[in-house]
Formats: sequence, C-alpha cells, structure tokens
Amino acid sequence: MAKPILLSVDDDSDVLRAIERDLRSHYGADYRVIGSDSPEGALGLLKQLKLRNDSVALLLADQRMPRMDGIGFLQEAMEIYPDAKRALLTAYADTNAAIGAINQASINYFFMKPWDPPSEHLYPQLDDLLEDWQASYRPAFEGIRVLGTRWSPRSYELRDFLARNRVPYQWIDVEQTVNDPETKRLLEALGPDAPSLPIVLFPDGTKLLKSAPGDVAQKVGLRTRAQTDFYDLAIVGGGPAGLAAAVYGASEGLHTVIIEREAPGGQAGMSSRIENYLGFPSGLSGGDLARRAVAQAMRFGVEILSQEAVGARIEGSYRIIKLADNSEISCHALMIATGVQWRKLDAPGIDRLQGAGVYYGGGATEALSCKNEIVYVVGGANSAGQAAMNFARYAQRVVILVRGDSLSSTMSQYLIDQIKATSNIQLWTHASVAEAHGETHLEEMSVLCTDTNTVERVPASSMFIFIGALPRTDWLGDLVNRDERGFLLTGPDLMQDRQRPQGWTLDRIRSCWRPMSRESSPWAMCGMVRSSVWLQESAKDR
Ligand SMILES: Cc1cc2nc3c(=O)[nH]c(=O)nc-3n(C[C@H](O)[C@H](O)[C@H](O)COP(=O)(O)OP(=O)(O)OC[C@H]3O[C@@H](n4cnc5c(N)ncnc54)[C@H](O)[C@@H]3O)c2cc1C
Repeated sequence: MAKPILLSVDDDSDVLRAIERDLRSHYGADYRVIGSDSPEGALGLLKQLKLRNDSVALLLADQRMPRMDGIGFLQEAMEIYPDAKRALLTAYADTNAAIGAINQASINYFFMKPWDPPSEHLYPQLDDLLEDWQASYRPAFEGIRVLGTRWSPRSYELRDFLARNRVPYQWIDVEQTVNDPETKRLLEALGPDAPSLPIVLFPDGTKLLKSAPGDVAQKVGLRTRAQTDFYDLAIVGGGPAGLAAAVYGASEGLHTVIIEREAPGGQAGMSSRIENYLGFPSGLSGGDLARRAVAQAMRFGVEILSQEAVGARIEGSYRIIKLADNSEISCHALMIATGVQWRKLDAPGIDRLQGAGVYYGGGATEALSCKNEIVYVVGGANSAGQAAMNFARYAQRVVILVRGDSLSSTMSQYLIDQIKATSNIQLWTHASVAEAHGETHLEEMSVLCTDTNTVERVPASSMFIFIGALPRTDWLGDLVNRDERGFLLTGPDLMQDRQRPQGWTLDRIRSCWRPMSRESSPWAMCGMVRSSVWLQESAKDR
C-alpha cells in the first residue's frame, strides 16, 4: 500500500532540504516525504497526486515566497486535498500574518523558523496533527479508475472489457456523482482533459483519454504482442473450445498461442450460472469457469494474446494469421474456435441506443446499475433465462419478452422452474420489440403484441437482447469451406457427393469434431464446442 504523503514547499533550497531531512528521519517509515521549491510547482504536483489517488496527510509551506505566499498556497491546495493537515513555516516577523491565517485559511498550525531542536519544536506538534489525520484516514483505492457515464457506449464497452478480463477497477460515473466533492476535485485536477471520457487513470499517474479496450489492454498487462512469431499450434478464439484445445495441445508439449479479441471465456464467460458442466454439481459462473481454464492453460505455458485475427493464409506448410495491429504470426496447425456472436435485433432505434440502455448479452457490468429498475430481457432461450435470474437479484422487476406463447420449447426445464419460482420475473408472451425510443439513452420501447395485434409503448431504461447468434467468419475468406450462414464446415459435412473438398491433400479423411446443433437450444451436456474446426491435421501428426 502506498504511504501517505507529507509535502513541504519552500523557495529557499537550504530550508527545504532541512525540513525534508527532519521529516524523513522522523516520519519516513510511515510517510513519503516530498518537497517542492515553488508553490506553483507544488499545486501541479498535488493535481498529479490526486489523479494517482495518492493520500496527502500534511502540507507544510513557507509563508514568504515570491508570486504566491504560503497562505495563498495552502488555500489553493485545500481545494485539491481538503483533508490534509495544513501548517505554515514563518519567520518571527510574520507571526501576525500566521495567526490571522489560522482562521482565514483554516491553517492547523504554524512553526517558527528555525525549529531546532525538532524534537521540541516540530515533532510533538506534527505528531498531534498526524494522529488527528490518521483517525479519519481511509486508504484510497489503489487500482485502475475509470471515469465515464452510464449511458455512454464507449464507457460500457470499456467496463465490459475490464470486467470480462477480470481486471479490477473502480467505476466513477461522473454524471451520477456530479455533486460528489471528490469527483469534482478529480475533474478539476484533470483540467481540460476532463471532457475526454471515458478516462482511465492508472496508479502510476498515467492516464488514457477517450480510451478504448485495445489501448487499455497493453497497459494492464494483457499481452498484445506475441512472444515469438512461430507456434506449433495457434488457436483463434479463447472460448471454452479454444481454451480446452489449448490445454490439451500445450499439455502434449505443443508451443501454443490463443488469439482472443475480447476476453478468455467467450460466450460462456458471460453466463451468470452454468449448471450443466460436467464435474460442477452445483454449477459455476462463466467467469469462474474462464478463470480456472485460463489458469490451467497458462500453467501449461499457453500464451494468450489480446488481439483480433483479421486474416489467414497458407504458405507451404505454414499457416499465417494476420492480427488487427498488422502483425503476423505463423504456425504449423491453426484452429478456429471463434464461436458465434449475438444476432442483431432489427428494429428502429436499437442500433443507435446500443450500449446506452440496449445491450447484447449478459451485461454483467450492468446488473448493479439496474438496481431497483425494470429490466427487459428479450429472448426465450437459456441465455435469456440465466440473465433474467441474475438481474432478478438486483432489479425491481425483470420482464422476459418472447414471441411464442411459452418458454417450454426454447428453455431448459430447470431454468423454467427457477423463473416460475422467482416472484419478480414476469413473462410477456406474444411480444416482440417494435422500436426503441430515447435521445441519449433508452427511455421507452414499443412492443408489438401479436395476439392482439396492438403496439404497447412502455417506459424502459435497460433492454438485454438474447435472440440467438451467428458466426463471424468473413475474415477467413475462401480459406475454409463455410455454409451460407458462415458456419465452418467440419467432418463429414465437408464431403460433397462423397468427394473430399477441393485442396484436400491428405490420404485419409481426418475425423474432426462434428459441429453440434447450430440452434441455441438444447445445450449439450458439457459440449460447449459448437463451431470449432481443425484447419489442418494437428502439429503432432507431422
Ligand atoms: C449468457 C450465456 C449463457 C450460457 N450458458 C450456458 C450453459 O449454462 N450451459 C452451456 O452448455 N452453454 C451455455 N452457453 C453457451 C456456451 O457459452 C457456448 O456454447 C460456448 O461458449 C461456445 O464455446 P466456443 O469456445 O465454441 O465459442 P465462444 O464461447 O463463442 O468463444 C469464441 C471466442 O472467439 C473470440 N473471437 C471471435 N472471433 C475472433 C477473432 N477474429 N479474433 C480473435 N478472437 C475472436 C470471441 O471473442 C470469443 O471469446 C451460454 C451462452 C451464453 C451467451
């Protein structure tokens, strides 16, 4: 934990050195002692410290300084660190000014120069002040702080990225805490940078303005550059399929890399509770599953790159993957485990308000923000059911919108039972979203009720959409065979008229994972692999 700071300010370098020396010798074990030779410099320094979330226990300033005297400095410094104890160093001639300052600038104490011996004229008084300060001192949060607004899609994207990558951070909604003095001080310390939201403040004092997940990834230690440019096995996609393959590949000694553009765990990482995974009789959260799988993969030496694969090609016996930052890595065997992405809801207003009240997927980061609100969940499959159960813990009411007349054909029975037993979940059947309304964020939505053929307009601030998913495999071009919807063909699906696919050079037909049902339900027992394919026989076979 960073030590609180004692800051002294004096334009006379000899006096500054002396006071720093005395402070350090007596308080150095518990405090950091910092000095500045100008009040202007010290104010700049305090703003920096505020952005780093450092605590300042004491401000000690000489009264006689050019341009700004000690009282003036302490008054301005008080705006930045109101809780710091304030003391003045004065010469005998300035005693009256110092006494006046005790009231005028809420100075806690003044010391006469010289203060020798400090054991009599400095430490006892400072001990009192610091003891007083310690009584109300609460150590500040030491990690990353994200400043943004709840309805900003960029803020949402960033928070979701950090949460899914399990990077702890403190969220400061500058709109909701606009009257909070600490938020005001932080924004003032940011000065002209304050409007550049979302802003990420790092404990080392650096900041990212208008930041995007890619900018933050590197800074928080997520690897964005490959350690080498060649691997035995490269896996695109770090969902359950990619992670499982990486564990098996690496445990067999293959030099393995996973390329994941969002967060390891994939769709499963968004699940609030997975109850059908073999070996976890009481279920586990998707985040927990992802964390365990990542730890296991890393133990076998798997490298996880936070990057997007944007192209792939074959050169001789090498497969080459192009990444979003234009770098390339090559490998013997390439596995595509890119899963699926949410299908878009086609209704006016939905695209415009995405990330500002309209969300695809679990929105784990949003659950707490929806406290005591009405949450709409669109879709009738298991992911919608899990999300409804999760939101029901915080929201006043959760309304599930389904087009059919019940959940029975789309959702697992265990979830239907749980939903029935949860009093604040309501099912709205024969309903589909006709339009989302709102200027800067979702405020209302129109629902088409197909049983009565009427449109109902209801107030709404959060809508979570779970209406199935589609693969996003365009980046592979013609490299592999895909069906008309973009699913990669594997195993026997590759055979056409009993013929092997064009370009198949092997003597034997490789038996691949057969893709399971492409519909979202029912989920197969512990078979989360749905869209994965070996592009080439495994490197071990070579
Ligand atoms: C909310 C929710 C709850 C669920 N609950 C359950 C459950 O309880 N039980 C169950 O069996 N199943 C459940 N599922 C389904 C299960 O999560 C999926 O079947 C499973 O995650 C599929 O695994 P995957 O590895 O094939 O693909 P995904 O999990 O989709 O992972 C694919 C990964 O590839 C990445 N990716 C895609 N393209 C690229 C690219 N070009 N470059 C780099 N990375 C890329 C994506 O970011 C993603 O992380 C749930 C799904 C959701 C959304």
